[in-house]
Order: sequence, then structure tokens, then C-alpha cells
Amino acid sequence: MARKKIIAGNWKMNMTPSQALELIDTLKPLVANDDVDVVFCVPAIDIIPAVEAVKDTNIAIGAENMYFEEKGAYTGEISPDMLTDAGAKYVIIGHSERREYFAETDETVNKKVLKAFEHGITPIICCGESLTQRKQGIYVDWIRMQIKIAFQNVTADQAKSAVIAYEPIWAIGTGETATADQAEEVCAAIRACIKEVYDEATAEAIRIQYGGSMNAGNAAELLAKPDIDGGLVGGAALKPDFGKIVNYNK
Ligand code: PEP
Repeated sequence: MARKKIIAGNWKMNMTPSQALELIDTLKPLVANDDVDVVFCVPAIDIIPAVEAVKDTNIAIGAENMYFEEKGAYTGEISPDMLTDAGAKYVIIGHSERREYFAETDETVNKKVLKAFEHGITPIICCGESLTQRKQGIYVDWIRMQIKIAFQNVTADQAKSAVIAYEPIWAIGTGETATADQAEEVCAAIRACIKEVYDEATAEAIRIQYGGSMNAGNAAELLAKPDIDGGLVGGAALKPDFGKIVNYNK
């Protein structure tokens, strides 16, 4: 069965709750497309009003981060129960900005992924190489390692429902997009890695997004590749352009 495309916006640290409501009002009519799962990953404080605002639409709300403990003395963190109770269905785990600025590691990514599954939240698991790693030609090895650690102790059934976002760090927020062939090479390598770790059925079911300066102009070419099942979109997710990305096939 063909995998359904999934396009997720990563709003990052943008949009106050009232701005979030305005943006959702603008985007709602633009992102209707039954062929695509549409997700807005929003700042934690925006989740509750956003969930209310997308009721009766095709949009699901996700979080941008989550802690791996259930509750307790972890000042400033958001627990999985908080997310599910607020109505979040997805959570971005291990975005390169969290790895760079908030000391997230492959090990904490794995703990968060396991916790998300335990609570029925779909993780969008980020991986990707730096420009140096790409130039050194070690990017596929690096990403295979990130994937293997992220999926430690994850069952095949859980893995089937996961979303992986391949995001070359050099393409995030830079306006420099990986070519469709570069993105496909790595997304195919990730699927091969999942097949090695699990089996063919899991590799065929899991959805792999590309992220890194995806926009209305390059989305169709990227999304035409056989192993690219969607996009994780930063800058363009805050503009009407996001509707054009979601409707790349119209
Ligand atoms: C991201 O933050 O996940 C991302 C891909 O950002 P941008 O689209 O702005 O490069």
C-alpha cells in the first residue's frame, strides 16, 4: 500500500497564542488536501488554543519537544501526559536545534521516542548531518548511527507508525535545499537501515520526510522521489506558501 504523505510545519519559537490563532485562520482553507496528513507542530503554550482552532479540519497538532520522564522535579519541561491531555498527536524529537542549543543526544532522543510511543504520541524523529560530515563523505554512516540509537528497544509495530525527518543541518533555515537526488539518496539509505534493523514490512510502512528549506517551489520535485514521504517545514510553515507545499500534487 502506498504510504500517505505527511507534511508537518515546525513553527519553532514563533507565534504567541493569539498570533497562532490568526495564522491557523489563514492556513486552514489553504491546507485542505485529503491525500496528505497535515501537522502543525507549535510552541507548547500554543497547543491548547491550536487544538481547539483546528477542530473539524484535517489538521493535527503536534509539539516541538517533550521530556522523557512522567512527572516531577524537572522545572520547565513538558510531560507526555500534558501533551496527550492537551490534544497533541505528534511530537518532534531531536531536532538539530535542540541537539545544538539544548544538549540533546542520540541517547535522550531514544528515551523520548520510547516515551512518546508509550503514550500513543507519534514521534517525528529528526536526523541529519553537518556540512563538514557531508564534505567528508561520512553522512550516511552518521545518519545510520543516529537512526540505530533512536530506535533502540522500539518494536517493529511502533516503528511502522513512526515518522523520520531527514534534515541536513546545512539546509535548515539557510535557503539552501538539498537537491531531490541528495535527499532521496539519504532517505533511501534510512529506509534500508530500518529494513536491516527490522524487516521489509516495517521499512515499507515507516514514513520519511525531508526537511531543509522546503518551499512552494521545490516541494513537488522532492516529494516525487520514491523514498520521500513528506516534509518537515520551518520558515515556509508560517506563510500561505505552506498551503502550496501541502497541495504540491494539485
Ligand atoms: C526545520 O526547522 O525543521 C526546517 C526544516 O526549517 P526550514 O524549513 O526553515 O529550513
